[in-house]
Amino acid sequence: MRYHSTRGQDMNRSFTDVLLQGLASDGGLFLPESWPHLSAEQISAFAGRPYADVAHDVILPFVSDEISSGTLRNMCAAAYSRFNHPATAPLIQVGNEDWILELAHGPTLAFKDFAMLLLGQLFEHVLGERNERLTIVGATSGDTGAAAIEALRGLRNVNVFILHPEGRVSDTQRRMMTCVREDNIHNIAVQGTFDDCQALVKAMFADEAFRSDVRLGAINSINWARIMAQAVYYFTSSVSLGGPAKKISYVVPTGNFGDIFAGYVASRMGLPIDKLCIATNLNDILVRTLSTGCYVPQETHKTISPSMDIQVSSNFERLVSEALGRDHAAVATLMNDLKENGNFTLSENVLGFIREEFAAYASDEAESREMMARVSSRTGQLIDPHTAVGLVAAEKARQAGDVSGPLVTLSTAHPAKFPDAVEEATGRRPALPAGLEDLFEREELLKVLPNDLAVVKQHILSAV
Ligand SMILES: *Cc1c(COP(=O)(O)O)cnc(C)c1O
Repeated sequence: MRYHSTRGQDMNRSFTDVLLQGLASDGGLFLPESWPHLSAEQISAFAGRPYADVAHDVILPFVSDEISSGTLRNMCAAAYSRFNHPATAPLIQVGNEDWILELAHGPTLAFKDFAMLLLGQLFEHVLGERNERLTIVGATSGDTGAAAIEALRGLRNVNVFILHPEGRVSDTQRRMMTCVREDNIHNIAVQGTFDDCQALVKAMFADEAFRSDVRLGAINSINWARIMAQAVYYFTSSVSLGGPAKKISYVVPTGNFGDIFAGYVASRMGLPIDKLCIATNLNDILVRTLSTGCYVPQETHKTISPSMDIQVSSNFERLVSEALGRDHAAVATLMNDLKENGNFTLSENVLGFIREEFAAYASDEAESREMMARVSSRTGQLIDPHTAVGLVAAEKARQAGDVSGPLVTLSTAHPAKFPDAVEEATGRRPALPAGLEDLFEREELLKVLPNDLAVVKQHILSAV
């Protein structure tokens, strides 16, 4: 499989290039040249098979000219053995035709583990073969950082620098990053927002000299390999509910548009999906975009679902590229509008393509809290604030008549990762799961830096 940038200036790259490089050199995002197709028979045969097996089958067409089936099988087995639920991604029924897909049974208690643990395996394999070193620089709104650190800690060929917005991640999220003591792990708290952190990382990637000086590599959700890994649980959940004979709809708590784009990938690969529902908190840029066609980033609101406090939803560019029939020049023009004028406008055609498959709903803080309280009192189960945003969207999608039939809401984090917000809403404090009980007694290690590209670059240069 070859990969092309959405903006058309970085073409014909191998999977390994795309894995190590992350962002394309023209500022675009990589997409596979074509979508591999799985037949209905192949998809039906996923039923009842272990998660790691299905992962191998879904991922293989994207990597098969560079990674052997046997090697990939071992990587998937190693990555998904670290989940502490036998189903890896269990489905819980919460209504007649409503389910929650629990994605937080990995070591850092959020769905990011699904992609990141596989990425760790891929990096170790590829860098070992090439005898190369890599400096990973990533921005996190809280969960990516912990998942990356957990997946890459102790690897000999990788140095990891994670930028998080100071004071804008939960204490548990921060400690899951800063309490990891390994020589190859470095935490930077940036005095700014997640969008500032993301802009710093993008600027470092755009700096040719810096990029080659430190051998920069990316793990952010712009990395194609992460999206590919996330497509797997759409298949496993669908077949447990009667897919591919039945069309399933999904609600996805959304920030950077990576997780929901993975659902789009699954549908392109042949999985019958009815609607993909974008769920946002007050940072509702995608809801506004789907309703008006204008993509206009605003101030980032700080909410109780911080992993979605994002106004620049990077992976949306991939969907725009698809909607434009991969017209690279047209994508580049829109992204240039965004850079020059601070916004872009989608044509009626593009908007029509997107609305065909996607819908979008925002919830405010009160609605999210009320949902956590309602689930807790009705079922005794605690859900995290991101999942609550998803369940509010599920309700709105049903009320609007946008969705009928089976609906799966992705539960993206464990409530114990956001104990203050959960306790405030429900009166109950979620306990940290086994293995993490002493998190708040561990020593933290982090560097606070201003939102200043030169300072951050210097810090990284001197550390590597
Ligand atoms: C990252 C994250 C999201 C948003 O996922 P995207 O792929 O960025 O859209 C939602 N919920 C949680 C808990 C997350 O960590």
